[in-house]
Amino acid sequence: MMISTTSELSILKEKQVFFFDLDGTVYLGNKVFDGVLELIHLLEKREDIQFFFLSNNSSRSTSDYLTKLDKYGLSVDENHIILSQHPTIDYLKKEGFKKLFLMGTTSLKKEFEKKGFQLTEEEPEILVLGFDQELTYERLVRASYFLQDGIPYIATHLDNRCPTEKGYIPDAGGIAALLNKTVDRMPRVFGKPNKEMLLFKLNNLQISPDKAVMFGDRLYTDIKMGLNAEVTTCCVLSGESSLNMIKKSESQPDLIIEGIWKVRDVLQ
Ligand SMILES: [Mg+2]
Repeated sequence: MMISTTSELSILKEKQVFFFDLDGTVYLGNKVFDGVLELIHLLEKREDIQFFFLSNNSSRSTSDYLTKLDKYGLSVDENHIILSQHPTIDYLKKEGFKKLFLMGTTSLKKEFEKKGFQLTEEEPEILVLGFDQELTYERLVRASYFLQDGIPYIATHLDNRCPTEKGYIPDAGGIAALLNKTVDRMPRVFGKPNKEMLLFKLNNLQISPDKAVMFGDRLYTDIKMGLNAEVTTCCVLSGESSLNMIKKSESQPDLIIEGIWKVRDVLQ
């Protein structure tokens, strides 16, 4: 396992769509990696390239993320953000679902309402599970009854746990596991590592996967998703993965770089 050479990286010059994971790829903690703002400014000037930032975290709405990115000095518009609720919403629209029982935060509920969905506690057409940080036992009871009645069941993403400063907290996958113990059902999923997270966007843009590249630090989500979607994959070493971890992984990236700031040299 080696860091990709300049000539191996030249494949990036043919790409029209750049997907970037956020945490560990664009920033770490409170700090944007050096050279990333310059890369984004370069991409903004290139009319032949479209770029997107991705996160599975559906406890936050798109506008929450815009505020967050703005604090890092990244002032982009909402078209550049892909959260796990977006492929989920795309699916719900295509399938014609309107009345939802949504397990999610107030922020997420507002985003679904803005997209024209009716959130209901009675007779929903489908149950949608997100990273619900406002979950109550009463809502779990209601969800259990709906699921036993056999209504369709989907989730924005299924990360088991979410890291915080004091330790891990239950994420959407943890909540799904709790419901699964009760009703023996698991949801269909749209976020990473599911290929839908990339393909719904490429389908909407009408750009084929071989013209896209996914950058990320996690092998079992970012790189696995890229492989599933058949886009070029590039693992960055600025976050969770080391060369040794890549060597042992079943998800082998096409390219390896120290961090996305290296992309700027290739595109210039
Ligand atoms: Mg990451």
